Amino acid sequence: PSAQRLLTVEHLAVSYRGIAAVNGITFHVDAGELVGIIGPNGAGKSSTMHALVGAVRASATTLEFDGQRLVGQPTERIARRGIALVPEGHNVFGRLTVRENLRLGSTARPSSTGLADDLKWVLSLFPILEEFGDRQAGLLSGGQQQQLAIGRALLAAPKLLALDEPSLGLSPTAVDTVFASIERIRARGTAVLLVEQRAQQTVAAADRTHVLSEGRITMTLGPDDAQDSTLLMKAYLGS
Ligand code: ATP
Repeated sequence: PSAQRLLTVEHLAVSYRGIAAVNGITFHVDAGELVGIIGPNGAGKSSTMHALVGAVRASATTLEFDGQRLVGQPTERIARRGIALVPEGHNVFGRLTVRENLRLGSTARPSSTGLADDLKWVLSLFPILEEFGDRQAGLLSGGQQQQLAIGRALLAAPKLLALDEPSLGLSPTAVDTVFASIERIRARGTAVLLVEQRAQQTVAAADRTHVLSEGRITMTLGPDDAQDSTLLMKAYLGS
C-alpha cells in the first residue's frame, strides 16, 4: 500500500469498573485521511478518543501512531508525537483572550518551525479569531469558541486532529462553518478523526465512516452512502 499509515487501532477495549464501553474495535487512519466515527449517545465514541490520547486506561492488541506504541504513554508525550484532541464541549480558557488561547496551543508543538505560517493559516481559516484577538474567550459564542478550540489544536501542528462532536450544540450556520473548516484542514494535509452524531454530513465528508454501537463497529460507510437515508437510519438503529 502506498498510503502512509498514521494510526493503527486493533481490538481496542475500554471498560469502566468492569463494564465494557468500547468492545474490541479495529480501524486505521492514513496520512491525510478524514475518518468518521458516528453513533448514538453512549456508543463509546468519546471513550475511543480518550483512549487514543491516554486519558483513559485501554487495552489493544495494537495501538500505534506514526510507528510508535501509544498504550501507557503519558498524554503530553502523545500530544507531542502529533495527536491533538479537541474534546467534547467548548474547550477554551474563558478568562484568557483569544490570542492567549492560541498561544497556549503553540506550546504543544514539537518545534517552533512553521509557527508563523500556521498562525496565519488558522487566522485565515477562522477570521473571527483575528478580529476578536483581544477578547476574552469566554465572551465568544459557542460556534466561535469551537473555532478557537480547533484553531488552538491546529497550532500544536498535529499530524492527526481528533475532534469529538465539534458540532454539538451549535447553530446550523456554525455547524456548516465547522464542517467547511474540517474539509480545509484535511485539504492542507492534516489527517482528521471526526466523532459526530451528524451522520449524513460526516459520511459525506469522510473517506470512510465507522458506525459505533454499544462499543462495536457495526458498519463502515463510504461517501456514496451519504444519500442513502435508509442505510443511515439502519446504521443508527444498530441493525
Ligand atoms: P456521548 O455522545 O454521550 O459522549 P459516546 O458515544 O461518546 O457518547 P462514551 O462517552 O464513550 O460514549 O460512553 C460509553 C459508555 O461508557 C456509556 O455507557 C457511558 O455511560 C460509559 N462511561 C463513559 N465514561 C465513563 C466513566 N468515566 N465512568 C463510568 N462509565 C463511563
